[in-house]
Amino acid sequence: MCTGSLTARALVPCNQRPVLIWDVDGTLLAAQSTGRAAMNDAFWACYGIARAFDDLNFAGAHDHDLWAQAIRRHCNAPPAMSPARFFHAYLQHLQRRLNEAPIPALPGVREILCELTAAGYRLVLGTGNIRAGAYLKLGAVGLANYFPHGGFSMPGATRVDILRAALEAVQPHPTCAIVIGDTPRDVHAAHAINLPIIAIATGRFSTTDLAHAGADLVLPSLGHVKRFHELFHELL
Ligand SMILES: [Mg+2]
Repeated sequence: MCTGSLTARALVPCNQRPVLIWDVDGTLLAAQSTGRAAMNDAFWACYGIARAFDDLNFAGAHDHDLWAQAIRRHCNAPPAMSPARFFHAYLQHLQRRLNEAPIPALPGVREILCELTAAGYRLVLGTGNIRAGAYLKLGAVGLANYFPHGGFSMPGATRVDILRAALEAVQPHPTCAIVIGDTPRDVHAAHAINLPIIAIATGRFSTTDLAHAGADLVLPSLGHVKRFHELFHELL
């Protein structure tokens, strides 16, 4: 159990500040099912099928895989077309929904990002959102400028591929990194490439869930900024 304290897991030795790879939904902001609703809108607009994403598990998933799952479930003959038309519609509906019902950044996030940036840490995204979707959501809560690069949803990708892409986006290439996420899938992906992960229980999963998944540090939220910095610096 590592809620609010560190596990004995050996962290990657590092003589420089680690790059910090951030998940978006449930970690930086509470999208409150806006993404799911916008995908339902887009699927209806493109394929005439309503509520296609209602039964899909979004936690730790990525957008291309969600689209592929919906196609397999609801279309007898999966269209040979690329998902480009769907994602074009998705972005339009996502923007409309964000305008209609603003979403919040999660407690403590803005202050922590500001302080980490001022201290010289490089921040990148490692998210299952498509790139434009991630920046629409982050722009809606005023956090987009903290993240110049990232790894995003890609056709056929896994969560591990997304984290690798996040690392490759940083130049010079980092020798160490820490992932910050909110789901067991984030934990497993980080560990698959030997990265430590700080798991925040502000998404669907409890501190117990995330500790059982093996997260190196679990916090109930980022709302206790001082405590975050204390534990974060113990990780280094
Ligand atoms: Mg998440």
